[in-house]
Parts: sequence; C-alpha cells; structure tokens
Amino acid sequence: MKFGGTSMGDAECIARSAKIVVDGSRDASIVVVVSAMSGVTNRLIASATRAQSGDPEAGPELVEALRQQHDKALTALIGNNGQRRQVQEQMEAILAEARRLYDGTALLRELSPRTLDSISSLGERLSAPVFSATLAAMGVKSESIEATRLIVTDKYHGGAEPLANLTREHCEECLRPMLKDGAVPVVTGFIGSSESGELTTLGRGGSDYSATILGAALAADEVIIWTDVDGVLTADPRQVSDARTIPEISYREAAELAFFGAKVLHPKTLNAVVAAKIPVWIRNSFSPAHPGTKITPQGRSNGGGVKALTAIADVSLISVGGPGIVGVPDVVGRTFSTTAEVRANVLLISQSSSQNDICFAVATPDAERTVTALRREFAKDLTNQKVEHITLDHDIAIVAVVGENMRGTRGMAGRTFSALGRRDVNIIAIAQGSSECNISFVVQGKDMKDALEATHSEFALGAAAAARP
Ligand code: ASP
Ligand code: MG
Repeated sequence: MKFGGTSMGDAECIARSAKIVVDGSRDASIVVVVSAMSGVTNRLIASATRAQSGDPEAGPELVEALRQQHDKALTALIGNNGQRRQVQEQMEAILAEARRLYDGTALLRELSPRTLDSISSLGERLSAPVFSATLAAMGVKSESIEATRLIVTDKYHGGAEPLANLTREHCEECLRPMLKDGAVPVVTGFIGSSESGELTTLGRGGSDYSATILGAALAADEVIIWTDVDGVLTADPRQVSDARTIPEISYREAAELAFFGAKVLHPKTLNAVVAAKIPVWIRNSFSPAHPGTKITPQGRSNGGGVKALTAIADVSLISVGGPGIVGVPDVVGRTFSTTAEVRANVLLISQSSSQNDICFAVATPDAERTVTALRREFAKDLTNQKVEHITLDHDIAIVAVVGENMRGTRGMAGRTFSALGRRDVNIIAIAQGSSECNISFVVQGKDMKDALEATHSEFALGAAAAARP
C-alpha cells in the first residue's frame, strides 16, 4: 500500500491512512510505502534553490518549519511519551543532516543533482517514522525503513531506474523476515541508492513507482496506491462534470493516461509490474469504501472502445516550415536533435505528407529555449529562405482520447472530429500513434474544456461507466 502526500497531509490524514493499514493487516501481509507530507518536497527544493543562490537562512528556516510540522503531527498521533521521544530522536538526526546539506549548498553556491537528491529525499525520511509509530500506537507491529537499503538503482540522479535483481535480493533479506514476523514495514517512497551507495531519487511523484518496484520484488498479490481521488476517472472532473470512475482499465490505457496529464500515476509506475502481471489499484484514502480503479494487464472492455479522455494545458506548439523545407535534407533530424539538446520533452509531433511543415508540442516552460535553439540551428537556412519560418504558438492544449479497444474499431477518429466540429472547436493538429490506443489533437487553450465535454458526451463516457458497476 502506498500513501501519497495528501494521504499524509496532517495528523488527521495520517491517522485515516494508518487505520486503512490496520484494517488490511488483519488478513494480509502489508508493506507500506509513504510519500512526504504534502508540499514538503516542493519546499525542500525551493529552499535548495535559495541556498544555491547564497541565502544562508533558507535552509535553517525550512528545517525549523519542518521540525514544527512533523512534531505537531507526532504529538497529535502518539500519546505515549517514550514512543514519541524515540521518533523525535530519529527526526533530529535527519534534520541535523538537512542543516548540513543546506549549509554546504549555501557556502559553495552549488547544487549538484546528487545533492539535490539528498535534499529532496528528506521529506520521506521524516514522514516514514511518523507513520510507522502511528501504526505501533494503533497496536500493529511496525518498523520504518529507508528505501536506500532496499531499492538499488542506476546513478541517474533525479530520475534513477531500479535494478530489479539486486532490489529483489535486498527485499528478501530485509522485508521478508519482517513480514514473516507479522510486522508492517513502512518504507520511504521516492528514493533508492546506487550500487556504490549514493542516494538517488526516482523522479518527482516517484513514490508510486517505489510501490510497484517493491511489489514486484516481493511478488505481491496486488499494489494499492492510496490517493485523494476515487481512482482513474473518465476525464478531469473540474473540466467535465459527469466524469466517472473507471472500474477496470488496462496497463496500456493507464500508462497513456498517466503520460498525458492525468496526474493519478507516475508514468513509470506500471513498468515495474508488467512482467509479473500484478494488479495495481488506485483508491481514495479519504473514502476507503469506494472500490476505486483496478489496473490489470488486459483491462475490461466497456463495449465502446474509448475509455477516457485526458488533456494537458500549458503547452506550446512550435512549427518549422515553409515550402522550401522539402529541399533541405535532414530538417526532421536536425529539428529533433535540437529539441533533445535543450532537453525539451516533445509531447506530440505532426507532419503533413507535403513536408511543408513540421509541428510539435512541448510544455510551455520548454518553449522559448527550444525556439531559440532552433533559430540558431537553422540560421543559415532561414537567411537563404530554405526554411521560411519557425513559429511559436503559446496557450495551446493537447487533448487525448484513450482506449485500447479503439484499435480496429472503425470511425473513432471520425466521431471525435465530428463532435468537435459540432461544438465549433477548431483543431490545430492531429496525431494518432500506430498503436491506435490514443488519438491526440491540439486545440487553443480556451477550447480545451469544450473539446473535453464534446468528446466525453459523444462516447457516452459518463453513462457507459455508470451502466457497468
Ligand atoms: N515526495 C515526492 C514528490 O513530491 C515523491 C512523491 O510524492 O511521490 O515528488
Ligand atoms: Mg506526491
């Protein structure tokens, strides 16, 4: 069971989450993975940036705030003085380390990816002992463990990849005996360590991934991600009012949704369980009676083909083109080696067969830097007008229609675009991968809500989900 930041928000949330574990532990062996208390990782990183710019107070201020925040939760959760003092001691050691990391950063005005990993790991290292002590206070034997002892990764700081075999060995050595002994291990999400012992992180939001990595390592029966929504929904309920929970969805579909903006899952989460076919649940810790969504290898058909919609706002569209680019060899190659050089994540690509124009979408924060780099790369071609324009269109959204059974079902694209036409939504670009799991299209940011509502009702997503409990 993994509990995300909001499920760890304050003493009340932690107590509610712990109660779920206590109830579950009556008839199952459970390993718990926790995130930092909500907002903590962002604050750790923001203060690291301040320290890097030479501000010596950023670290100490945050350390004090974190001490108070965790202490407050601890006091509300643990009545027994002795038990509380034990956790406080653990916390003090971590906070002292935090001070040293911030002092060093402010002194050197340098923040390497490796140091940033150590700093951003502090939230989970503080929250795990609190959660574990809460379980103990509720009468369940428990121990908190830092995932640096369990999850072995490569050295890619800020987005490390797990090494499955070594991780499995460590889990067998360390977690299995605790489970046999009837204890509930509480593991820090988000972090791991390289073979040489350097702390690494799995990327922002990576605690989901920690949970499936550990689930796979222990051959768990299932992984449950406890979050603050009722599972995977047919669309963002803030955009589409009759959005509903999807009872069962395939790995593929869930991954498409995770990638394209539906923030319920870290995009890599399912990679870890694909081979072992372990089901992953998304459930709401604030409403544990709701069954949530089950993610399985095959999913379950809803009869329709389209399962869900997802959208990302705050995207920019870049286009490189003009009739002349037909004659310039390598325009495509150079365009995308340039985006790779500036580390812009390309979200969608579309090119017409006349080759007059290549357009692609990137997240808006990446856009200016990408266009500048492209203008540099194509400077010569722009002066002799082989490339006529490199343009940037801000305030764009990508909407994706997702469903595994769309493959081989005729008319999905047609229905999508007719529905948009009837709503007067102008489509700027279209992309459908050959997997046919996903039809994506680009619209103006102001049209995103209309586009979502029109397609949601065209494919009767609200009603279809309701008819199948
Ligand atoms: N605390 C980490 C983050 O905010 C990991 C997680 O919450 O999954 O990115
Ligand atoms: Mg989180």
